[in-house]
Amino acid sequence: MLYDTHCHLNHPQFESDLDQVLARMRDAGVGRCLVAGYDSPSSLIAAELSSMHEDVYAAVGVHPHDADSFNEDIERSLLSLLEHPKVVAVGEIGLDFHYNYSLPKKQILALEAQLRIAQVTNKPVIFHCREAYEPLLEILECAAPIHGVMHCWVGDIDQARRALDMGLYLGFGGMVTFKNASEICDIAAMIPVDSLLLETDAPYLAPTPNRGKRNEPAYIRLVAEKVAAIKEMDMEEVMMRTWENGLTLFHRE
Ligand SMILES: [Zn+2]
Ligand SMILES: [Zn+2]
Repeated sequence: MLYDTHCHLNHPQFESDLDQVLARMRDAGVGRCLVAGYDSPSSLIAAELSSMHEDVYAAVGVHPHDADSFNEDIERSLLSLLEHPKVVAVGEIGLDFHYNYSLPKKQILALEAQLRIAQVTNKPVIFHCREAYEPLLEILECAAPIHGVMHCWVGDIDQARRALDMGLYLGFGGMVTFKNASEICDIAAMIPVDSLLLETDAPYLAPTPNRGKRNEPAYIRLVAEKVAAIKEMDMEEVMMRTWENGLTLFHRE
């Protein structure tokens, strides 16, 4: 079984053919997927999709790109969505100082407010981070203990060690299959498999040979294959261990 621990089936790109996408996901042996919210409407859709499909779970949260929109109404609606039994995490939240679509100050405020939501609801967190590992790790080190995953890891090895020291998982997706991703692959090789989650981030970051096309959960097989090669492990073993990791983090009851 495979677990796509981070995808956006709530994205408009899946509106017209979601049933086929889910059918291909099941055919590929993907037993579960976790749909991450990125703003208020997409969080609601994630929760709705999880009610409609047995193998779909949801995370709710406001992405740093949308941090400018974060307010108390949204905070209340996230809290109420988190009462839903299949909404298993807060996310994706974090810092993105690469695009800076929202002011860094606003991003930090939205991150801290949503960390408090995770703490009061006792839910794990899905973190997004671009060019902001130092400030994000500092904030998390002060807020520890936190259960969660740094999705789509692109940090360096020292930052990876700091994340692992806090007990965080690192998520790897299609980027490990890209030609210029040797640093990411080195880190995937070095970290213990017990700290590793697989993800697609669909519709983004489709793995080779589908790079540039719309990504979808079925393609997580290509990620698992590459991670198995990097770690010199059996594909079956990688699938089983990362599946267990997903259950441990997101389905702890
Ligand atoms: Zn992200
Ligand atoms: Zn994402």
